[in-house]
Amino acid sequence: MSLLLTHFLLTVKQSNVWEFDKKTRICVKWEPMSKAPASNDREKMPAPALRFETNVQYLKGVGPQLGALLAKRGIHTVRDLLQYYPRAYEDRRAARDIASLKPDEVVSLKAQVVKVAAIPMGKSHRKIYDVLLRDASGQIHCKYFRTPYRGYFERFNAFKEVRVTGKVIDYRGRLEFHHPDIRDLASDEEIQDDVIPIYVEIENLSSAKIMRLIRQCLAQLSDESWGAEKLPSSLLKKYQLMERKESLWKLHQPPAELSAEFIQLKSAAHHRIIFEEFFWLELYLAAKKAGLQREKGLALRIPSTDRRATLIQSLPFQMTGAQLRAFEEIKNDMMKDQPMHRMVQGDVGSGKTLVAFLAVLFTIDNSFQAALMAPTEILAEQHFRNAEKMLGPLGVKVALLSGKTKAAAREEMAQKLQTGALDFLIGTHALIEEDIQFKNLALVVIDEQHRFGVEQRGKLKAKGISPHFLVMTATPIPRTLAMTVYGDLEVSLIDEMPPGRSPIQTRVIYENKRPQALQFMHEQIMKGRQTYIVYPLVEESEKIDLKNAVDEFEKLRQQFPEINMGLMHGKMKGPEKEAVMDSFRQGKIQVLVSTTVIEVGVDVPNANMMIVEHAERFGLSQLHQLRGRVGRGTAKSFCILIMGRAVSEEARARTQMMEQTTDGFKIAEFDLEMRGPGEFLGTRQSGLPGFQMANLVRDVLILQEARQAAFDILREDPELKEKENLLLREELLRSHGPTALAGIA
Ligand code: ADP
Ligand code: MG
Repeated sequence: MSLLLTHFLLTVKQSNVWEFDKKTRICVKWEPMSKAPASNDREKMPAPALRFETNVQYLKGVGPQLGALLAKRGIHTVRDLLQYYPRAYEDRRAARDIASLKPDEVVSLKAQVVKVAAIPMGKSHRKIYDVLLRDASGQIHCKYFRTPYRGYFERFNAFKEVRVTGKVIDYRGRLEFHHPDIRDLASDEEIQDDVIPIYVEIENLSSAKIMRLIRQCLAQLSDESWGAEKLPSSLLKKYQLMERKESLWKLHQPPAELSAEFIQLKSAAHHRIIFEEFFWLELYLAAKKAGLQREKGLALRIPSTDRRATLIQSLPFQMTGAQLRAFEEIKNDMMKDQPMHRMVQGDVGSGKTLVAFLAVLFTIDNSFQAALMAPTEILAEQHFRNAEKMLGPLGVKVALLSGKTKAAAREEMAQKLQTGALDFLIGTHALIEEDIQFKNLALVVIDEQHRFGVEQRGKLKAKGISPHFLVMTATPIPRTLAMTVYGDLEVSLIDEMPPGRSPIQTRVIYENKRPQALQFMHEQIMKGRQTYIVYPLVEESEKIDLKNAVDEFEKLRQQFPEINMGLMHGKMKGPEKEAVMDSFRQGKIQVLVSTTVIEVGVDVPNANMMIVEHAERFGLSQLHQLRGRVGRGTAKSFCILIMGRAVSEEARARTQMMEQTTDGFKIAEFDLEMRGPGEFLGTRQSGLPGFQMANLVRDVLILQEARQAAFDILREDPELKEKENLLLREELLRSHGPTALAGIA
């Protein structure tokens, strides 16, 4: 039987959820009209009826230059333009003055800047910005507890004329704005007596001009180009959704009497669009999941010789309830004749490896083979060592395949895999690149899902038989992301830490306190403990400003000659790294100085201190991962985050969060909120749909509804054959191509 691993990658590429958005938003083909009017006689032509697919260049007032500018923002067609939603609304009907303001009303008024002050907040290094505004009637303070971006306040010189929009707050008897929207009074002040949508400006294209373009589209779209409402009427009714056409009209031309709802971005029109954005994604995921459930898989049985009990008895500890539960769920999945697609989520150190090994052993006791993929060689090695230690004594035949496995050894390994002389293969994704043949592979485990990226997830087929598929993620995935990016996977949660671990104490310090931190490290080393010191990866061009692992290693060695130090960085070769790692594991190296190559999964229980230099350069999830390297033994553990000099507000907020909690889920939620889903998942191309209006953090309740709606529809009409649902079927095909329906047709 051959393991077609390249096929794995390809299938996964196709099933990437991202295509959803890309396709609906951008890849709509535009058929050019037969006679395109030359730009200068366009004015004389009667306004043509527009279609959604019409290129924006056909709009009055859009020439090649403006067309190119819009295209740069991904706006090619009328549809794209209509989906360029306002970022805010302003009620310019009543000319309000400051003296007339009342608590809790949302208003917009003209004022003049008096001054901007930055007020330090206690010891926390944070500042509150206070912009004082005045008009003829009085003054009001605008307070900002967060800075939108560095330099934001520099534009507000005294006397500057601005428009301020926000909610009036009664703060200890004084009226203030908190985080209002302040904009320079620009030329788009001509509309005064209406509720105005405000768009993000596109270079020199003002919000007012964008508004005029969009209104032109709305006026010229023919009834037939609006077509039928795609969402079934029963769905609209059940979830009280506005029709699409009405929503788009209102978003761009809000009814004045509903100004408050629009200003807060909480109108029924907003709700409808957000719901729909989530709904298409969830319908796609539901269809995919239905497809996975129809696949034929290998139903495992409770084997006659079941070595699980032996493995569990050999452990020097008791399994946690959460570990047992997770394994039960995995076992139940594997006993069905559909392939398992399950993700085990558990914080760093929660003991996922053991759960995976139990699944591996269960597979092998069923006379099948298992494979495990790890993101780095060091991790693959570590898993191999653990497998030999835990599964070896039971007679399981394990092998490690990595980039450096010699040709002869690899050939022998391949031979043994084919005959079934090997039970369990561990490797990096060298394992999926090689043309490795298995006799009967039934389980594929992927460790540290995060690192592999979404594009490598998906089904894996070997000659018609789909192995069970288990992914283990170290970084907790906030629920909202789990419902979208990983929405077609079942989830097992390991939400309990092994007992007897003392909490890790975390401190954020500045560079001037480094000597004390190193002194403290010295004391811990003298007590027989070990320490990690981590530096960020440094680009050549930044060298002058930033401490880097290689240089600092030399200095530390001179400063502490009595301590054995080891250095590890990304440019070292595999065997060198492993030699260092081995010495650290054996305690010969007491302080490991490193770049982030140790980030994921390394397990050395005697290490009880993590020092991170330039902590401001690391993301929250990364810091959490790093901290997870300590606190694995019984000794009290410490994490010291050292901040460099130029530190942003955001970095401060991040590190403060690290001081406040060790709960990975809380940290992940906070991180998602701060950075948005794309950054959170590591790369911009992480396979997340770029929603136009929906926000995964803010709109989680709507997401849940949309998910429920999509899964309900597919449950009741699995092939989307009901008349009501035909348009859903069409839309899935249009946006994802035939593969979207493979599972349900
Ligand atoms: P992670 O979930 O981060 O992959 P590991 O599987 O590497 O965590 O486990 C971390 C450490 O905890 C390992 O040393 C492992 O042997 C140990 N461990 C796992 N389960 C338990 C348990 N139930 N009780 C005590 N220690 C455990
Ligand atoms: Mg692990």
